Amino acid sequence: MAILEVNNLSAGYENGYVIEDISFLLDKGEFISILGRNGSGKSTLIKALQGLLKNISGKVRAEGKDMFSLGPRQIAKKIAYVPQMFSLSFEFSVKEIILMGRYIHQRRLEGTSFEDAKIIEEIMELTEISFLKEKKMAHLSGGERQRVFIARALAQDTPILFLDEPSSHLDISYQVEIYQILQRLQEEKGKTILCTEHNINLAIPYSQRLIFLKGGKIYAQGPPEKLITEKNIREVFQTDVDIRENLHSGLPEISLISKKEKKP
Ligand code: ATP
Ligand code: MG
Repeated sequence: MAILEVNNLSAGYENGYVIEDISFLLDKGEFISILGRNGSGKSTLIKALQGLLKNISGKVRAEGKDMFSLGPRQIAKKIAYVPQMFSLSFEFSVKEIILMGRYIHQRRLEGTSFEDAKIIEEIMELTEISFLKEKKMAHLSGGERQRVFIARALAQDTPILFLDEPSSHLDISYQVEIYQILQRLQEEKGKTILCTEHNINLAIPYSQRLIFLKGGKIYAQGPPEKLITEKNIREVFQTDVDIRENLHSGLPEISLISKKEKKP
């Protein structure tokens, strides 16, 4: 069953649309990755899906409800969003930022419950940031901040998660770990996940489906086994790559072609 239905979505800013005629379905419990060059419209698409842009046409339905007629609180109960750029005040502590994810579950004047405190402790352990909890956001590294914002989205406990480049700023160990956490949430809790990602080899093993965006339009969508071809990568990214089989997963993997000749 589709949890998210996107029909003929076009959206952009004051100077016009930057994504056009986007249609796709996201099944409940599915993991989908949006891939495309810088400026191809990935972040714009993620924002448009949540009704965050004014210049917009088309339809988006989440759990059967028209997204553009829902209020911010109703949307926040369905979708947690980790943006690519954060404009939040850095005066907050790690714990305070993650608690913000619980606000939509709290009644007015009720404050933080024992249950909320327990949930955020668990999430801080899962994302390995417990040791940072009293620290101010301003005093964290880029990768630590990224993990805090992912933790906040998890604390929101929504059926759908949108993550705009979750692996940016993370070292290779945390890149794999974050994707494993997302996969666990998908498999054990049935969460539906949509990510944008520049590391194609990271997206391949975790995604049931990929969407290639090119110039604001869908160039192709389908399972990684079908979509990851030298031709598609050349068309979408204007770069030549070799495609091999990953030793562990048997899935395709791209290998960048370095211009530098290997010494004999
Ligand atoms: P990246 O991989 O660099 O994150 P992206 O695929 O997420 O790129 P978007 O951020 O969606 O790309 O941008 C798509 C286009 O829209 C770009 O040409 C960009 O310059 C333009 N754009 C983005 N934000 C705005 C804005 N606030 N006002 C006007 N144009 C914008
Ligand atoms: Mg972006």
